[in-house]
Amino acid sequence: MSGFILNPVARVIEGADERFNHVFGGPGGHKGTTPKNCEAPLHFLYSFDTTDPAFAVRIPGIRHIPLYYSFPYNAGACGYRILSEDEIEVLYMETKKLERNFPYENYPSEFPERKVRLLPISYEHHKTLVFYLQADKDALSDDDRQLILDEYHYPFTQIGGIHKMWQDIPRIRCPDPSCANHKFECFMEVFAVIWNQPVKGVFLWEIPEKARFSWQKD
Ligand SMILES: [Zn+2]
Repeated sequence: MSGFILNPVARVIEGADERFNHVFGGPGGHKGTTPKNCEAPLHFLYSFDTTDPAFAVRIPGIRHIPLYYSFPYNAGACGYRILSEDEIEVLYMETKKLERNFPYENYPSEFPERKVRLLPISYEHHKTLVFYLQADKDALSDDDRQLILDEYHYPFTQIGGIHKMWQDIPRIRCPDPSCANHKFECFMEVFAVIWNQPVKGVFLWEIPEKARFSWQKD
């Protein structure tokens, strides 16, 4: 578990927000998304509008924080920094070898664009969620099970709070070689975890027929 930001905590759901400009999918549009000596750009996942108080991370001079990921590169780790509203710099790729038809056959080069919004998770509900992540659903009361599974539809993309990652929290160094923390593996924190089906019908890792878990099948 990792809990770098304990307040605010939010889940990301599909739907337009009149006040804030959060986006899932589409081309992304930043410069610098094809890593050096690589064949294809990173996949654009989200852009989060940091003027939304439900989003916890702030970067001076940057309004929108883009999340990109290296799916066809064996879903290895990647690291980048955000240079401006429209440019990132990829600093680290675990592997630069592009896999064909990975993570699954006919993997898209970009995901369909959707408006998304952030719904805050209250302190009480966050406690329930963390208990569920630790103890699983059999430990929950009927009311709590209804909250987490029926109302919240866990798993979902979660921003802030205590996170669970299926392969545990990775220990990685800051990808910027000029950073004072570059030599340490203990200073990188998790602020968001993105689920396999971030919006309806879009699968990042496993397509429904192959999904191990029934909750991914709708
Ligand atoms: Zn750093």
